[in-house]
Amino acid sequence: MRRNSSTLVYTIIALIFFASCAERQNKSEVQTVDKGTIHLNSIGYLSDSKKEITLSTESKTFELKQLIDNKTVYQGMTTGPDYQEDVNQNLWIADFSDFTDNGEYYIELDNGETSASFLINDSIYDRPFSTVMNSFYLLRCGTSVASEYNGDIFQHESCHHNDGYGDYIGSPGVIIDGTGGWHDAGDYGKYVVNAGITMGILFFTWEHLQQNINESSFRIPGEVDNTLPHYLKELKWEMDWLLKMPYADGSGRVSHKLTRINFSAFIMPEEDDEKRFFTEWSSAATASFAAVAAQASRIFAPYDTEYANRCLSAARLSFNYLIENPEEKPFIQGDFNTGGYQTNDLDDRLWAAAELWESTGEDQYLKYFEKTVAEIDYKSDENWDWGNVSNLALFTYVLSDKSGKAPDVLATISENIVKTADNISKKSYSDFYRRPLDLYYWGCNGTVARQTLNLYVANKLQLNIIYKEVAQNAVDHLFGRNFYNRSFVTGLGHNPPMHPHDRRSGADNIQSPWPGYLVGGGHTATDWVDLEEDYARNEVAINWQAPLVFAIAWLLK
Ligand SMILES: [Zn+2]
Repeated sequence: MRRNSSTLVYTIIALIFFASCAERQNKSEVQTVDKGTIHLNSIGYLSDSKKEITLSTESKTFELKQLIDNKTVYQGMTTGPDYQEDVNQNLWIADFSDFTDNGEYYIELDNGETSASFLINDSIYDRPFSTVMNSFYLLRCGTSVASEYNGDIFQHESCHHNDGYGDYIGSPGVIIDGTGGWHDAGDYGKYVVNAGITMGILFFTWEHLQQNINESSFRIPGEVDNTLPHYLKELKWEMDWLLKMPYADGSGRVSHKLTRINFSAFIMPEEDDEKRFFTEWSSAATASFAAVAAQASRIFAPYDTEYANRCLSAARLSFNYLIENPEEKPFIQGDFNTGGYQTNDLDDRLWAAAELWESTGEDQYLKYFEKTVAEIDYKSDENWDWGNVSNLALFTYVLSDKSGKAPDVLATISENIVKTADNISKKSYSDFYRRPLDLYYWGCNGTVARQTLNLYVANKLQLNIIYKEVAQNAVDHLFGRNFYNRSFVTGLGHNPPMHPHDRRSGADNIQSPWPGYLVGGGHTATDWVDLEEDYARNEVAINWQAPLVFAIAWLLK
């Protein structure tokens, strides 16, 4: 995902893709499927959850029918119409929350129209969770991967063994070990800032929802070593790579990314043999790295003391470098045309301080956090991504049980987090597809998933059933209760994306795309297209996957 790169570059790249992909037109055509007018979460509903769906046709009544014998098990009245301006539609709501029997059902309207079938039971999110987690395994670099899904084997050979060259960090022609980690997105690059927010959210998920995760069925394909929970084992694959990104000079500065000069064509990763380079360091990448390494130190401590200590030393070293060098050091693309991920470092520094404090309890980090958080007015954001991770810092701080927090700082931040969650909730209930985000842009589906963290933390601070309902609304939206009546996640739910901007999916010979990936989404409420070339609307990316893991993990029973 590369929101910061220039339009011109992308226009050129898009033209190259159009030319190079001409022989695979069958994978690139826009699907023209009749949308239908019954918009619902096609994964299904938990038996005790709110069960609400949206209709884009008038129907005064609706029936819930059993798939097995078409027997009507529930009848209700709809509410509406309500006009939804951004899609220019009249919409109705059907609610069957008080129906709780397990089974497989569909909705029938009074005009005879029927919906896709869906399940009601408490294990509906088990498979989505393991599929979305497995998508990280499938992004592994520096190794071969293989995983069966719906009868297809998704696989590639070991890749990028020469990661990477040191030409831009003072060692021309020298290969320094930067192998491993996850490919970032539709391209095969590896970017520290985006790995940072991704790991930050995945570690947060583990810290708060590990009981749900432990009881789920996620297993790494072919993995027989159980010394770590498989969830953490997968995160360690990325962490091991991140630990290779600081400069070898012992300063603590961290290379901003490890990529080619230009994006590759749509080829499999093992065919991508152009030179890849460590780029110059940035202060944002250094701070982001320090935050994640600090998290890793406390999360791996119960399993591997030596590894935990290594992570903590690396986090301290990088943060100390930033203390001694307080000026912003931006990343400059120079020769590079791959993802920029250029961002100010203040939020990343704030986050690093919060995580180092949570892991060590040391006053120096708490003081740094409380001083720096004033510079952002203690503000919690509704709409956030890799460019602003201050929420992660705030969440760690308010949920910490460590002593020493300044009561006024804690109170102000807590109040702001609750206010933000209230705004998110208000927006969800003023949208008749119940989408909690009122903006559309590159990667906004990832933000819809990410807002569930705001709701979770607010719910911890001030228990309110609405917050979890709105998180459910967000998940409903991503799995089909949307304008398109389609799941936004490959391989899951009703009519999912078939042509994501993903090099593996485009370059293998399998019709189905690699499974478990959330696509970025439209830039307006109606302009998303399931088109491989449309990297701005249909790419996949680790920073959208991670909050989807969180959102689903919160719903696991
Ligand atoms: Zn690779």
